[in-house]
Amino acid sequence: MELGNIFRHLLVHNEAFVRSSEETKFLAYATQQNPYITLLTCADSRVQGEILGKDIFNKVFIIRNAGNQFAVNRGSIEYSLFVLNTPVMLVLGHTDCGAVKFATHACITQSQEIINLAKSFDNLMKTDYSSISREIKSEMLPLTIPIERGIPDLRKIQNEMKELAYLSQINVDYQIEKALKYYGNRVKENKLTIIGGVYDFAGAYSKQLGRILITNVNGIINPIDLHEKARAIVKRIPNYDESSEGYKIVCHLIDEKVTRITV
Ligand SMILES: [Zn+2]
Repeated sequence: MELGNIFRHLLVHNEAFVRSSEETKFLAYATQQNPYITLLTCADSRVQGEILGKDIFNKVFIIRNAGNQFAVNRGSIEYSLFVLNTPVMLVLGHTDCGAVKFATHACITQSQEIINLAKSFDNLMKTDYSSISREIKSEMLPLTIPIERGIPDLRKIQNEMKELAYLSQINVDYQIEKALKYYGNRVKENKLTIIGGVYDFAGAYSKQLGRILITNVNGIINPIDLHEKARAIVKRIPNYDESSEGYKIVCHLIDEKVTRITV
């Protein structure tokens, strides 16, 4: 899109937003915010807050960077966790992540041993990253640490889209591992729950495009334990009637969405 139209969209779309919004909604929170989720996710334009609900105003404190990295914005994360006291931190990776692709490419080109392990990355290996700036590279290179961990498992997957989703999943595990180093006590005291997920718009996990798959809770990644943990969390809802239709729907969603690509 060229500049004139981009600028026109900026003005017109915001005005449409103003006209469609209830003024009272803004006035009630003009001087305070009370979010309940700290969302650490990727800056990718295909990942937007609306995947958590139509209206996340005052509900989700969003921190974004390339590859949803914990260390890049630790100050903003701690503001949300310790000043705003959000009880949940959601670390959300996604399919077809450019930062994961960059780090994977970097790992593969650095080692002959890794080239042999990652043979199905035909498209990725055609990408030329030579002209990107040092700043971009230095922000994304820390991702080679989790990617190197995941690469030996790739030969058991053998599908480029799924392999990249698996590496995003491993990256989320790694970022949660780092967060737990600092906030583990808060998790133990039940003041904070750290949830990891992968937003799948490519169909790596299922045909239901747009799903968030829950792949980690407080560092738990074993599928059976993860499932049990998800059920235990739902059971904490006060007076939740386990024979109700709503409870059955949630259990069904846990069955479908609390899942990992396993190797
Ligand atoms: Zn990304």
